This record gives sequence, structure tokens and C-alpha cells, in this order.
Amino acid sequence: MKNVYLDNNATTMVAPEVRDAMAPFFDELWGNPSSIHTFGGQVKKHMDRAREQVAALIGADPSEIVFTSCGSESDNMAVRGAVEALGGYPHIVTTRVEHPAVLTVCRYLADLGCKLTELKVDSEGRLDLDELRNSIHSNATVVSIMWANNETGVIFPMDEIAQIVKEAGAVLHTDAVQIVGKLPVNVKKTPVDMLSLSGHKLHTPKGVGALYVRKGTKVNPLILGGHQEGGKRAGTENVPYIVGLGRACELAAEHMDEEIVRVQAMRDRLEEGILATCPDVRVNGDRENRLPNTLNVGFEFIEGEAILLMLDEVGIAASSGSACTSGSLEPSHVMRAMGIPFTAAHGSIRFSLSRYNTEEDVSYTLEHVPRVVKRLRELSPFVQKAGD
Ligand code: PLP
Repeated sequence: MKNVYLDNNATTMVAPEVRDAMAPFFDELWGNPSSIHTFGGQVKKHMDRAREQVAALIGADPSEIVFTSCGSESDNMAVRGAVEALGGYPHIVTTRVEHPAVLTVCRYLADLGCKLTELKVDSEGRLDLDELRNSIHSNATVVSIMWANNETGVIFPMDEIAQIVKEAGAVLHTDAVQIVGKLPVNVKKTPVDMLSLSGHKLHTPKGVGALYVRKGTKVNPLILGGHQEGGKRAGTENVPYIVGLGRACELAAEHMDEEIVRVQAMRDRLEEGILATCPDVRVNGDRENRLPNTLNVGFEFIEGEAILLMLDEVGIAASSGSACTSGSLEPSHVMRAMGIPFTAAHGSIRFSLSRYNTEEDVSYTLEHVPRVVKRLRELSPFVQKAGD
């Protein structure tokens, strides 16, 4: 059976070059980068190089990169650290479609006394920039808005968002976990104050991330202790993974131009093929402003989980927009925020590609999706009711 992995927004395969770059750090290069002796010094050199590689991918200065354990930690540090640095109970502005790594920390801080505004999105998953503009009332405001959505791939207009937030004098963090490595990101051009990224979305193993903190931005550390990471994040650095992240960023930059075109062409062929062969489907999210690798489709009248299980039987891995909570299948908060009709939200599937996918993967998926959808519709009580 063929194996087709189309769940790259969840996690990605470790690139062989990344694994090779990491290998010496499990072996001869095991020193502590904070030590002043040669064991430490030779390791620190590689960590400095990784910091340069990460910074280069996003147009930052290496001194503005803080290594973390994951995207969630970066998000938590940015929002909580900025709120704590402002002091008191500042206003937090975010969106209804953020990843839980942002939404949960914002709601936690709201429970502690901060005022929280969660911006709406329209049926295509787009923000109303006037709503953003009108929601910032003072510069004691922390704004956290994702650059690209993990479920739909919808890209928010970060240049305009940054302009609005900067004019208001507020602090801007962006969760860029899904866009970094897929499309060009340059913090010189787009003046965000903080930006989160995560290694395992760009072909490192799970367990490493980074937070970009623009020089002069006030952010308290989340993890207190030693003086690592310029005093911004205590804890002896995870050197092998940091080196892997550096190499992954370098590879992403090398492949980007070519892969944007190739991956988008495969995604578009998948989308066109599904729309042409399956009746009653809709593409969820703004098709004009979308990550090149992401396709979220709502198959009316059938359950996403059932589609996933049947695709899994033939070796195709995708993911659903529903979360199974206490036995009932709840559509995701993103689908609900977009107001996607219940019948389509339940049958929403996300296909997300990477540079390791091939045209054969797309052809194989297009052979199976229509068959699976047809079979499930034959069994669906919703379809029979709709036909009554
Ligand atoms: N933010 C977004 C948009 C994500 O898609 C994810 C992971 O799915 C995260 C944050 C969390 O990243 P990590 O898994 O590295 O904690």
C-alpha cells in the first residue's frame, strides 16, 4: 500500500539534512554552550550559527532570536511576557481563529483581569481591519494575530495589521508558525514586535521553536532561572535541536521559490480534482489569500472523522476540522467562527502538503477521495433526509 502524508500543517517529516546536521551533537559535541572551556565553546559556535540561520529566514538580527521548546511556548511567552512587562491589566486583542496556544493564554489572562477582545472573521475567514482599528483604545494593548491559519491556510494581511497596531502604539505579536518556511517573511518589511515559529512545521523533530523579539520590545521571560538566551529564556539550550532548526531554516530559504510554485500546483490539482469529482463540496477559507500548501474542504452530509478513517485504510493521512469532545463531534472553533454551516463543518478535511509530496501522491489521493465520499454518502442518514 502507498503511504501519502498530507498532514504537514500538523507536523512534518524530519529532513535528512537536518538529521545529519544534528547527529554530531548527540555524539562528540555534547558540551554546555554556557561553559567557557573548549567543550562549551565549540558547541556555542554552532548555536550562534543556528541563530544566524533562523534570523536570516525572517530578516531579523541574530540577537533578536530566542530559542524555545516549541511554537506554543513562543506564543505563551510573547503574550504573557508582553502583558506582564506592561504591568497592571492591559487590554489584549486577538482573533477568534487563533491556535489554542494563543487563545488559551489570552483567555487565562482575561480570567486574571485583563480586558480581552476576540476579533471576528467573515465566512471566508477574513478579518475586518476596521474592527481591529476600532478595538485598540490605548497603547497599553497587546495584539496577537496569527499570520496564517493552521486549519484553512488563510493569510491575514500582516503589513496592514502592523501599520494599524504601530500607529496606535500598541505591541504586536504574530503567530507565524504556519507561514515561516512556506512563504517569504521579513520582519524588516513587516514591523511586528514579536513572531513565533516552530521547528517541526519545517522539517525538524518536534521540540524546538523560536520567538523573534524586536530590539527594544519589552517582554518578561516565561521561564525563570539562568541567564541563557540573553536573560529572556532560562534553561540550558537544546543544542542538537537548535542546530537542526538552523539547518531547517537554511533549507527552507533554499527551496522556497521553487517549492511555492510546485506545492501550490499540486494543491490546486488536488482541489480541482475534488471539486470536479465530488458533488456538494465547498472550499473553506479565502482562496485568494491562502498558504500554497493548504486545502480545507467541507464535504456536506458526512463526518470528517469517517472520511479520515477510510482514507487512512488506504494509507492517506489528512486531518479533520472537528474535535471530538465528550463523545460529540464539535466543529472546530475556526469553522464556527467562520459560520460554516453545520453540515459542511462536520465534514471538513484539511489536506496540507510539503516539499516531499509528489504528483503521484495527488493522483493516488484523487483516486480514493471520490470513492470514500460516495460510499459514506450512501450510508449517511443526512443525505437520505436531504433526499426525502
Ligand atoms: N500556532 C499554530 C498556528 C500552529 O499550527 C501550531 C501547531 O499546530 C502551534 C502554534 C503550536 O506549535 P507547537 O506544536 O510547536 O507547540
